[in-house]
Amino acid sequence: MSPRDASTEKPLVKTKIVATVGPASSKREQLKALAVAGVDLFRLNFAHGEHQVLEGIVRSVREIARELGRPIGILADLAGPKIRLGDLPDDGLCIIEGGRVEFVRKAAPGQLHQLTCTYERLIDDLNVGDRVLLADGMVSLRVVEKHADRAVCVCEQPGCVRTRQGVNLPGVSLSTPSLTAKDRDDLAFALHHGLDYIGLSFVRSAQDVRELKQLITDAKMENPPHVVAKIEKLEAVGDLDRILDETDAVMVARGDLGVESDIAKVPILQKRIIRLCNRRRVPVITATQMLESMQTSELPTRAEATDVCNAVLDGSDAVMLSGETAIGAHPKRVVSMMSRIVREAERLVVPHMEPPHAEGERHRALLVTEAVTLGAVAAARHLDADLIVVATHSGRTALSVSKQRSQIPIVALTDRVESAQRMALYWGVTPLVTNVVHESPQKMLDHVVNWGRDAGVLHSGSRIVLVGLSNWSTDGHDLMLVHAIP
Ligand code: PEP
Repeated sequence: MSPRDASTEKPLVKTKIVATVGPASSKREQLKALAVAGVDLFRLNFAHGEHQVLEGIVRSVREIARELGRPIGILADLAGPKIRLGDLPDDGLCIIEGGRVEFVRKAAPGQLHQLTCTYERLIDDLNVGDRVLLADGMVSLRVVEKHADRAVCVCEQPGCVRTRQGVNLPGVSLSTPSLTAKDRDDLAFALHHGLDYIGLSFVRSAQDVRELKQLITDAKMENPPHVVAKIEKLEAVGDLDRILDETDAVMVARGDLGVESDIAKVPILQKRIIRLCNRRRVPVITATQMLESMQTSELPTRAEATDVCNAVLDGSDAVMLSGETAIGAHPKRVVSMMSRIVREAERLVVPHMEPPHAEGERHRALLVTEAVTLGAVAAARHLDADLIVVATHSGRTALSVSKQRSQIPIVALTDRVESAQRMALYWGVTPLVTNVVHESPQKMLDHVVNWGRDAGVLHSGSRIVLVGLSNWSTDGHDLMLVHAIP
């Protein structure tokens, strides 16, 4: 059985690809080319882009998914309380090593050493000794004096900065709320348009996730979107276990994480975060600078190809492209390249079959469901089955099978298009929307066999293991069935 059909239906891929939409990829034909090249989920970055433009992109993605006959998810990535520099001269400001600059509430005209920023309480929250990083960490300052209306800093790592570049305060507890007024407005847009995931930036604690989930719950939707907690602050790494109690998915947001923490620790943090997500059955995306040089170059560096491969081997459900597809010169080429690298890498992913409830560790999979999926995956491996089929409403059972990384493709049957769009993120899961989930296991198998034969992935002799729900189940998926196609 071929793991990948050449048709646009793209059945049975394993590691999923998230692509950020931007000026280089927002036209309908560009989006379609990216979907055909292998994108499973499009990310809308609400730090950029107006609602009117984003609305057109959402419409196009939904139409393209229908044309290609497969669910494609959409992630609404809220900008969060990102702090930015205020106005600087047109040619920017260069700060030399040992040079003194000061953050003030309002800059006086002509005072080039005075900096302002979008966070009003910056001077209140800073203390002597704190570090202030500008322009993604390219320039590093240290606070040496604090006064009521200014914080004086000395430059430890020199460089030039421009208007609106980012300001990071590693280790400083900010009194800012986790959702800005703009985020609430963007969330309303995302809910109104039925987007599948909401990305929460600069998460500090589980409480930030709870607040967003409460707003989503208040909207009383039948199929609310899932939350992706972006882990980009050390405070979030410290509270990760509790964050995983609340969030539906995680993004290892290496861009800001590499500024907020020591860049040398990012590779290890990535591995730790992914490992914990997998044990806790939480989908995890590895993001940022994965094929960065392809923004201009036609080929990635060897180091970038290796990074994508390692992210797959670490256990990522999905890998993400940012500037590469949003503003790069070759968005389609970069998706094809990422797809080729992950296809090579995922063959080496090793099964991970322990139950997720190590001592002291909370988990969210239902106990019976988890037991049955563990049994089903073991049976499928023992029988060298060609397919594991899961009947699922929310997608949670498919996730529990996926996290065992058995290498056997998973088809998830669901009656809900929203669940299918969310499952587009899950490793090894091919979601199919069908009402057959309400019928007998025999009918479900007939449906999958017809689909599998058409897609060229099943044939006479293929073995299938089905995970489902009996009519009398009260505790989750309680049924497993083995079938061989005559
Ligand atoms: C990141 O920091 O890695 C990230 C994905 O967030 P953003 O692109 O929104 O800054």
